[in-house]
Amino acid sequence: MNMTHDTIAAIATAVGEGSIAIIRVSGPDAIERTADVFRSKEDFRSAESHTVHYGHIVDPLTNQRVEEVLVTVMRGPRSFTGEDVVEIGTHGGVIAAKNVLQLVLKQPGIRVAEPGEFTKRAFLNGRIDLTQAEAVMDLIRSKSDRAFQVAMKQSEGSLSKRIADLRQTIIEVIAHVEVNIDYPEHDVEELTSAFIREHCGVALEGVKRLLKTASEGKILREGIVTAIVGRPNVGKSSLLNALTQSNKAIVTDIPGTTRDVIEEFVTVNGIPLRLLDTAGIRETADVVERIGVERSNSALEEADLILYVLNRNEKLHDDDRQLMEKLAGRQVVVIFNKTDLPQQLETAEVEQVFPAERIVPMSVLGEEGIDRLEEVISELFFEGRIESNDLTYVTNVRHISLLERAKQSLLDAIEATEIGVPIDIVQIDIQQAWELLGEVIGDSAGESLLDQIFSQFCLGK
Ligand code: GDP
Ligand code: ZN
Repeated sequence: MNMTHDTIAAIATAVGEGSIAIIRVSGPDAIERTADVFRSKEDFRSAESHTVHYGHIVDPLTNQRVEEVLVTVMRGPRSFTGEDVVEIGTHGGVIAAKNVLQLVLKQPGIRVAEPGEFTKRAFLNGRIDLTQAEAVMDLIRSKSDRAFQVAMKQSEGSLSKRIADLRQTIIEVIAHVEVNIDYPEHDVEELTSAFIREHCGVALEGVKRLLKTASEGKILREGIVTAIVGRPNVGKSSLLNALTQSNKAIVTDIPGTTRDVIEEFVTVNGIPLRLLDTAGIRETADVVERIGVERSNSALEEADLILYVLNRNEKLHDDDRQLMEKLAGRQVVVIFNKTDLPQQLETAEVEQVFPAERIVPMSVLGEEGIDRLEEVISELFFEGRIESNDLTYVTNVRHISLLERAKQSLLDAIEATEIGVPIDIVQIDIQQAWELLGEVIGDSAGESLLDQIFSQFCLGK
């Protein structure tokens, strides 16, 4: 199925980054039109697939050299898009790549690629399925090594395989029902119902397992949302700085100077954290600070993990007693900060609320206790929660909602057989589940869905 006839081009590397930039050209005229602007020793038009050529991009009108390049040719269908693809490697930076792209786009029959269009062509030409296409997008966006590995695994099709297995189970149920649907005898109906319950149950478990990974997928992609909370001046910003080793948060001696929520992305033992430093959580009359306090309350709401900082050099405040109540039932690591100063805090009162293994004495200023804090954080999230040898994660909202709906259809089917709904009616739910799962891998994807997905890509991918 080759539905594309024109040739497209775009800069495929991140603009302004890296020491080289790549212009990707894909389509039936990719090699011809590149040859028009490319001078090398051999004739590029007859270049073999998967070879690299050194030469110069030359403006055919003026014969001026524009750029020294390495050009790679991949003839279809053995290319990323399934079409003839040429990749022109230029020096890094914006200007070199732009000059070359502009010249390429001046050639007849070539237009600039829409965002995601290369990947869309790869999908339309059957080179990749939808989950793989979406994984390419996640690869571009992934912020941590771990998320990168997950996306890699998905782009290799591990989610597709799981979905295909589930659909196989369901199709067997459909086949079985089709065979027996014409026998209205009671015992056949009974047996068929039992068969549906059992096999839909198996598929349902599979869908649930995939959905369970969704929360972990969220963590891996966005980072664990981590709020640093505590009264003013206990050392929240200092802790944020210690964790990020940057100076984005303002550290001062005046209580309440962290006006806004500051966000910082860090990786602790391979776990991506999105750190939020909140203004001191307390009732206040100061309007500016109140905005900060409101924001920190909402940061607290959305947090997956809370780092609760106390000043061990101060007596426990009523604000802290209130806050501790609020934190009940949440994932909290308590930090007794300023251990370099004499102890004033009634630690026993805090230890009644939080388990000892979640309390870390620290001196942020004296650089003590950071290692232990990082250990506690990784223990919290790696203790059996993320299976290291199985990286099939559902990380995509579209997948999650389709899986949720497929789960519901399977539940409906099972329930219907229990209350004696006729088999041909139950069949509709089963078919629905099969179609929804198909949509995850793009089996029944309509054009509008495709456009929506691929328009989210960066240009040049
Ligand atoms: P925040 O208001 O909770 O963000 O607190 P800051 O991070 O701004 O820190 C308030 C003050 O406490 C600053 O003067 C810090 O230098 C100081 N501070 C932070 N951590 C420590 C520590 O471990 N020991 C001591 N002695 N001072 C600290
Ligand atoms: Zn602060």
